Amino acid sequence: MTTGRPTRARSHRRPRGRILLVLLALVATVALLGVAFVVLPMLRPAGPRPLFQLPVACGETWQLGTYPGHDDYDVDLFPTEGEAWGRPVLASYGGTVTVAGINGSLGGRTPENPDGPRGRGGGYWVKIDHGGKWETQYLHLLEPPLVTVGQRVAQGDQIGRLGSTGNSGAPHLHYEQRRGWDKVETYFDGAPSGITTDDREYTVKRASKNCPTVS
Ligand SMILES: [Zn+2]
Repeated sequence: MTTGRPTRARSHRRPRGRILLVLLALVATVALLGVAFVVLPMLRPAGPRPLFQLPVACGETWQLGTYPGHDDYDVDLFPTEGEAWGRPVLASYGGTVTVAGINGSLGGRTPENPDGPRGRGGGYWVKIDHGGKWETQYLHLLEPPLVTVGQRVAQGDQIGRLGSTGNSGAPHLHYEQRRGWDKVETYFDGAPSGITTDDREYTVKRASKNCPTVS
């Protein structure tokens, strides 16, 4: 009575060695690709700062502010005139949408019920990759963003409407500019906002030059 097993095992010895070599080659290839496409881009320095504009309509004056415990460089935007709810939120600069969804939970603060239950985190939010490791973030939007992940946007394109979703006390836009992994001081139209620390409450006013360009 024979089982055939020993014969099969012997005949598989050499192919098994070859399979191991192929596997090792695959692992080495994946590692090299990882270095080439993940590690090296991470080490590459950031590109020059894009000419960001305020994420609100051309010509309007808005109040930019922060408060203790906010986070250094984070900016909260409130209009100086008119109703905040529903105001258009615009792309600060051209780029590709990398996030368009919900951060944390929405809560229940709406124009009809402004003191409704507070949510957590950023609520409806959008993140745009501007290339050169630069990105901007827009939080607490009223409704699902008007853009989708992967969409190309131009400077001034409307990406959402101002709201109070997430952890927000009153309708406003929480806004950040990032270079690589780091938040940086926000710049608008080439000039720094002056919002650099959250150790006290303070505000500045800026007029938006996020204006349609003539082409
Ligand atoms: Zn904020």
